[in-house]
Amino acid sequence: MPVPSSPPIDALVPADTKMRVLLVDDQLIIVEAVRRMLAGQPDIEFHAVTDAGTAVAAARTLRPTVILQDLVMPGFDGFQLIEAYRADASLREVPVIVLPSKDEPKLKAHGFVVGANDYLVKLPDQLEILARIRHHSRGYIKGLERDAALRALHDSQEQLARANAELQKLAALDSLTGIANRRRFDEALHVEWQRCWRQRTPLALLLCDVDSFKQYNDTFGHPAGDLCLKKTAGILTGQLKRPADLAARYGGEEFAILLPATDLAGALQLAEACRAQLEHLALPHPQAQAGGGRVTMSIGVACMVPDENNSMEQLVAEADSALYEAKRGGRNGIVAAPAAGAR
Ligand code: GH3
Ligand code: MG
Ligand code: MG
Repeated sequence: MPVPSSPPIDALVPADTKMRVLLVDDQLIIVEAVRRMLAGQPDIEFHAVTDAGTAVAAARTLRPTVILQDLVMPGFDGFQLIEAYRADASLREVPVIVLPSKDEPKLKAHGFVVGANDYLVKLPDQLEILARIRHHSRGYIKGLERDAALRALHDSQEQLARANAELQKLAALDSLTGIANRRRFDEALHVEWQRCWRQRTPLALLLCDVDSFKQYNDTFGHPAGDLCLKKTAGILTGQLKRPADLAARYGGEEFAILLPATDLAGALQLAEACRAQLEHLALPHPQAQAGGGRVTMSIGVACMVPDENNSMEQLVAEADSALYEAKRGGRNGIVAAPAAGAR
């Protein structure tokens, strides 16, 4: 299974996140003055709009790292534009420096209230405007990098969680037959034992063992034996109807079926369905002791309502003894543990 790897952070930040200034000012003379101040700065890209009505759309397209915002424009109030930037998901975090014509405390205060980040009275000198642009742009770019790193971390955590879930699923499966393995069976037995105890309902267990399987291998070879086990597993899982029922490979040519909230009559019915289906599949087995030349299996059934007088180990031991009796009885048969019906 591929181990999830995170892409380098640089790859997640748009490659062109160099400092990009958007000036929104209706006066061409101001646009030209700022353009001159920023000319010759290779790390800064300059854009301007003089029509305030296009400012938000231009900002969305350009993705500036800082906006220089005039306050008084024909038909537009700069504060409204700042509010519009703040309401836009793609512009919400872009730093805005307002550019009033005079140093007015009330304007300054209102600018900060609506979401401006800084304040420069027109026209500042070149040193100051460059320092502010660089300061705000770098902070914004760092924020983008941090967001991208967090997203990458989140993505790789999700990938890891998915890979873990997949691994857990695989760790619970038998590699030959694809059904639950012994480990999964043991876990389910613990869980269902406790559940049935709480709910005072019976827990039934079927132990199924393919008859004369050593001879089957000896006759047809191990690969054919493997195929026979796969088909047998398919038959068993095919008989289960409830979500909590579980068929598992218990070991070798032995399978276990766990049936929560199932009484002995129900368990015997299912056992008979499994036995009959395998016989019906009619896999040839000339040396078989029972079944008239077909592959068969014997099944031991145990059933108990869990309480302090019994145990999981007892349930398994009873099913195992019943299986032994089924073998002794001539194979291709079903035997219930003697105490199973009495509980
Ligand atoms: P019985 O009717 O008493 O159950 O006889 P049996 O031959 O089925 O039982 P025995 O325990 O003597 O032999 C079981 C055989 O199952 C022997 C072993 O090689 C075979 N076996 C166990 N696991 C696998 C497997 O994964 N693939 C194959 N092909 N054979 C297996
Ligand atoms: Mg066997
Ligand atoms: Mg066996």
